[in-house]
Amino acid sequence: MRALTDPVSQLKGVGPKKAEKMAKLGIETVYDLLTHYPFRYEDVSIKSLDELVDGQKATISGQVVTQPVAQYYGRKRNRLSFRVQVEAAVLNVVFFNQAYLKKQVEMGQEIIVYGKYDAGYQQVTGFKLFKNKAEETSDFSAIYHVTQGLSQASIIKDIRTAWDNYHDLIPELLPDALCEKYRLLSHHDAIEAMHFPNSPQDHDQARRQVKYQELFLYGLRLLGRRSRRKQAANGVEVLYDNQALKAFIQIIPFELTQGQKQVVNEICADLRQPYQMNRLLQGDVGSGKTVVALLAMVATMQAGYQAAIMVPTEILAEQHYETLQGFLADSPYQVALLTGSTTAKARRQILADLADGTCQLVIGTHALIQDDVAFADLGLAVIDEQHRFGVRQRQALAAKGKSAAPNILYMTATPIPRTLEITIMGDMDVSKLQEIPSGRQPIQTAWVRPQRAENVQANLLTELQAGRQAYVICPLIGESEALEVQNAEYIYQEYQERYGARFGVGLLHGKMTTDEKAQVMAAFNENKVQILVATTVIEVGVNVPNASFMIILDADRFGLAQLHQLRGRVGRGSQQSYCVLIADPKTENGRQRMQIMAESTDGFYLSQQDLVLRGAGDYFGTKQSGMPDFKLADPVTDGLILETARQDAKVFLPELLADPASYPDLYQWLRDQDASFQA
Ligand code: ADP
Ligand code: MG
Repeated sequence: MRALTDPVSQLKGVGPKKAEKMAKLGIETVYDLLTHYPFRYEDVSIKSLDELVDGQKATISGQVVTQPVAQYYGRKRNRLSFRVQVEAAVLNVVFFNQAYLKKQVEMGQEIIVYGKYDAGYQQVTGFKLFKNKAEETSDFSAIYHVTQGLSQASIIKDIRTAWDNYHDLIPELLPDALCEKYRLLSHHDAIEAMHFPNSPQDHDQARRQVKYQELFLYGLRLLGRRSRRKQAANGVEVLYDNQALKAFIQIIPFELTQGQKQVVNEICADLRQPYQMNRLLQGDVGSGKTVVALLAMVATMQAGYQAAIMVPTEILAEQHYETLQGFLADSPYQVALLTGSTTAKARRQILADLADGTCQLVIGTHALIQDDVAFADLGLAVIDEQHRFGVRQRQALAAKGKSAAPNILYMTATPIPRTLEITIMGDMDVSKLQEIPSGRQPIQTAWVRPQRAENVQANLLTELQAGRQAYVICPLIGESEALEVQNAEYIYQEYQERYGARFGVGLLHGKMTTDEKAQVMAAFNENKVQILVATTVIEVGVNVPNASFMIILDADRFGLAQLHQLRGRVGRGSQQSYCVLIADPKTENGRQRMQIMAESTDGFYLSQQDLVLRGAGDYFGTKQSGMPDFKLADPVTDGLILETARQDAKVFLPELLADPASYPDLYQWLRDQDASFQA
């Protein structure tokens, strides 16, 4: 029995060696091979003499007018040359290291050569040789990603074999109604046109089908997961006391913003449900997410469960610990801090307290997800600055639940553009904090060239004399943290010499011990230090409302998201704050980033711009990020298809789950992808 899931080695002409090479490209089954789409096409239609463009690739056709000559240089290198009459001209044709073609070239014969045209030498450097047009049936030739030891020619041949022997098995997964609505090709015809297109139009239609199908199926999987989570009802049900929570809110020294009230309501409503909460809280830098998390944790503790919050750095863990302890000073809850530098003795005690439930709230770094950390009954795991953690790490904390699955609240201060939100966070619920607490003024940002950087010092001095504090952020220097530290030390010296007599100057970088870092941060917090020279260790979460001035050196070395994070360290109090970007960008991209930063303080806008400037691959980087591997669709450039497909999947899912027998191929496919997919 043939099946699309057959290993490629079933195909004639594909042995174990080749199968291994293909595996490197992610091709294991026949279907993988059939969906190994070309990444571009070459126009191989024959061009006339006046259509040839210097330096461009083209196909020419003409009569061979000289004997081919092969010259050899050493063992491996050679050059085959002959002349071809094309219309009224005679062109030189050369092939490098393909002397074996010589026997296919005969004087007087008509041939077709695909190659690069050089007008000066009247020469074509050949890539491909065709004896006659019949050999090349299409005007477009597909070009595939290949790998060492796997040639274009061989993969083209194998795809042909796969197609000839298996194409009748390609399933049509999309519901008819949607195919009709968007006038999509069948998947069968789309795959055919991807590999063997007759025209560029063909190929556009094919791409549209493939992308839509990829995104629709992906949407079904994510939404299916979400719907199963909600039905499973195996989550921690947090039945907190609303009056007690309200009373707690009264002791917070400021009034919650409308936005905070709303997201607290969303989160608390979710916590009460019998299913596991899986919610993302997106809020711009400084929007006040910590207090939202605090309220969710208090509700959880009131209901008799433990809560944990994991953050990416020790500085941030300590800061949160202080903040939260402050809020909880009059509460009965025991709060602990667990990081990599917690002493062995303290750690033992904390682990014991967490395991028997004496301690209700723990704040920590990666130290929280060590194997030996166990909870009596974890009800809520908060992951702050979630983008700093890998997918596994993010889930590891919630995996420490006892009987029921703990609720999870992810928080991010780097707003995620909508397209990526759908793609990566598609199985989550999302809460957004758009509003910044009132009384805050937008940070004024200026971009200054290094030649004029000296002028900035006067502004800095004004702020310092008004009793404010400042950050000076040192640049990233390539790969070397050591150099960054040196650089920070140098700049620290400069500021020390200049301001040391009147103000406290501090230095903070990643190579310092935890104690040293904590001391500097404490001094800055207590306003004993007024100027803090720092590397990007300061990036996330640090909160000193009296700091109103920031200088970022070599700012163009940072991405937009990071600049926004850095800048977010100021503007946290009621006074006007300033950020000065010192940069002399050498690239257009760099200049654009500086301009965008100077123009806007809206994190949602900036993240969208960042995505556009950098592209999705770079934006999230590694597989760690949870970006799915689409064959063709690109969530960024295909944002419109993504939204449509997602919406369609949402509408269609209940229909599918109610009656899977009506969509047997689709249902089976979803189950093959994800065994837990179930109606
Ligand atoms: P982020 O969302 O970046 O994590 P934080 O939670 O650190 O922001 O809050 C930034 C600052 O704003 C903190 O000093 C916090 O106490 C303060 N803050 C939060 N909510 C409010 C509010 N409703 N009114 C006034 N200040 C607030
Ligand atoms: Mg924060």
